[in-house]
Amino acid sequence: MSRVDLHVEGMHCASCVGRVEAALLGVQGVEDVAVNLTTHGARVELAADGPPVERLVAAVERAGYGARLAAAGGAAVAATASAEEEARQALRLVLVAAPLSLPVLVVSMAGLRFPGSDVVQLVLTAAVVLGPGLTFLRQAARLLRRAAASMDTLVAIGSLAAFLHGAVTVVAARFRGLEVEHLYFETAAVIVTLILFGRFLEARAKGRAAASLASLARLLPSEARVRDAATGAERSVAVEAIVPGDLVVLHPGDRVPVDGVVVEGEGHVDESMLTGEPVPAARRGGDAVSAGTVNATAVLVLRATRVGLGTTLARIVAVVRDAQASKAAVQRLADRVASVFVPVVIGVAAVTLAAWLLVTGGDLAAALQPAVAVLVIACPCAMGLATPTAILVGTGRAARLGILVKDAASLERLAAVDTVLFDKTGTLTLGRPAVVAVSGAAGEPTLLAVAAVEARSSHPLGLAVAAHVRERGLTTPSVSGVRAAPGLGVTGDVGGRRVVAGSRGFAAAQGVDTSGVEAWVKTHAALGETVVVGGFAGGPAVAFALADPLKDGAREAVARLQRDGIAVHLVTGDAWATAAKVAAGVGVREDDVRAGLLPEQKAEAVAELRARGRVVAMVGDGINDAPALAAADAGIAVGSGTEVALETAGIALLRGGPGAVGDAIAVARATLRTIRRNLFWAFAYNVVGIPVAALGVLHPMLAAGAMALSSVSVVTSSLHLARVRI
Ligand SMILES: [Mg+2]
Repeated sequence: MSRVDLHVEGMHCASCVGRVEAALLGVQGVEDVAVNLTTHGARVELAADGPPVERLVAAVERAGYGARLAAAGGAAVAATASAEEEARQALRLVLVAAPLSLPVLVVSMAGLRFPGSDVVQLVLTAAVVLGPGLTFLRQAARLLRRAAASMDTLVAIGSLAAFLHGAVTVVAARFRGLEVEHLYFETAAVIVTLILFGRFLEARAKGRAAASLASLARLLPSEARVRDAATGAERSVAVEAIVPGDLVVLHPGDRVPVDGVVVEGEGHVDESMLTGEPVPAARRGGDAVSAGTVNATAVLVLRATRVGLGTTLARIVAVVRDAQASKAAVQRLADRVASVFVPVVIGVAAVTLAAWLLVTGGDLAAALQPAVAVLVIACPCAMGLATPTAILVGTGRAARLGILVKDAASLERLAAVDTVLFDKTGTLTLGRPAVVAVSGAAGEPTLLAVAAVEARSSHPLGLAVAAHVRERGLTTPSVSGVRAAPGLGVTGDVGGRRVVAGSRGFAAAQGVDTSGVEAWVKTHAALGETVVVGGFAGGPAVAFALADPLKDGAREAVARLQRDGIAVHLVTGDAWATAAKVAAGVGVREDDVRAGLLPEQKAEAVAELRARGRVVAMVGDGINDAPALAAADAGIAVGSGTEVALETAGIALLRGGPGAVGDAIAVARATLRTIRRNLFWAFAYNVVGIPVAALGVLHPMLAAGAMALSSVSVVTSSLHLARVRI
């Protein structure tokens, strides 16, 4: 069995998904199909003698859609473009609806009367409800066929009932030459506009999620140098043209285009984007190198092993994409309220109609009026304000605490979080090595000479040693003839004497007397620390122990979450010994530590906890955290993190420290409390009006008052959020 990923164009809704799936399943040799509306991807499982890609593309095209083979980066870029297009469409609808609604609102709220004012309101409202508002009517009709209801249903019923009520009143009044009392046109126009605006905000957030995939894809170069195995000639080719077995030549600074194995050269590769580890990894013949990493120091030749969608980077893209798509199905709070409220209101309206038909002896016109009045008064105009205003004020409150909320839905979900997973490197720790201990064996001149040589190396460990000496206010002597031995250490001359720095073995081999530091080195290596040994050739050694230190406030941040009853876990790609030490440092139980995880395994750790019913927030900084950030109920990126992490997460901590995680959860909880209160106010006054309307004695003043009061209450309640103590 094999698998083909297609990019499908022109899908807008769930029924489009069904049509594309049916079209692909109709092709002989297709075993299974999964079409994803959010990413516009179609994953097709083929039998061993499955059809060629062209036949699949042709089947999709016959169904009325476009299709092509998906590339690792192409799908991501396309998803961004389609999300941006969705946001643009929503904005266009708002820009049509808002200017049409405003005069209706002003005329009715100010009680303006002029000749033809009723007809003007009728025409403007018709344009809103049947123009931009048509999207709600369509969606409500689709849901009705499945006997379901959402906020869209409520908007559709409310706006349509209010509009028709007004329209019938206007026409009847014209015929009979009566004075028109109150028309509920503003209810219809304003709710359509407000809900459309909320939808625009949501589409924009979705576009940002897709952008994270695009920035992952940008980790790949567009071209690479390939060596002809027969002639030895090198030429530039497009990355897509590289096939397994090709020899790829990498110069220092080049991004690795495909997964491969080193066949020539020896140097360091910066893999921090995949592993989160800040120290470049030594790579020589036979070692594997991943696409998206950066060749740091020397010319390397790779034999390509996996290309395109098979690479580690492409797998990360796929995990992020699937996680984002699966989360899109989460139902919003307002929808959940609406799904109960809508049937109740429709039931009350139906009972009202039946009761009045009985009372009036079958006078349909007389019975319809109270029934429609029930629908009109039940439509909570303020519902359109309930969530967006709380999110707006809540995100403003968060911003003042250095928390950037990019995706309102994650803020809603963050409020319910009971488990927080922390990445280690760069999230709880600084993400770069620093000297934590110095052996006292050799004198200061030796220490300064070693620091002077290390200052000239470009290796992160060497630079950390030099920085440590500088921070102590010491001046290093001048040094000449510096030479690096990749993967081993560095040598140079200070005052005519040869100075060595590097691994213990290298220093000993270069003639430094390491006998005085052997025990010290063993002790610190056992603690999971990296040790640098150096000294004058023939002289006694000095040793530095380096570790990635905890960030300020990391321990307090974990303690605060635990005090609030939140379980804290640690997930890391690093080795167990280092992870356990950091866990002990911040107060995470050893049972809650998982070490040595690949990026997709971090996402699996999140998925496992969610499957056990936990609501999970993931806090991370690297590309290797992106799958887990996307899979979590709420993804939180620390501000110093990579672009990909910042874009994948719904929430970013701009001040970098892990302490802001507790603040973010506190703001989220306050915001959700406000949304709940807002939804209560949005419905409360109107609900009081329902029995009055059913009795057929709804005074227009009462109706207008109820609607105005609910809007004012909602806005006031949201503004209160700005002052709440966090
Ligand atoms: Mg990290």
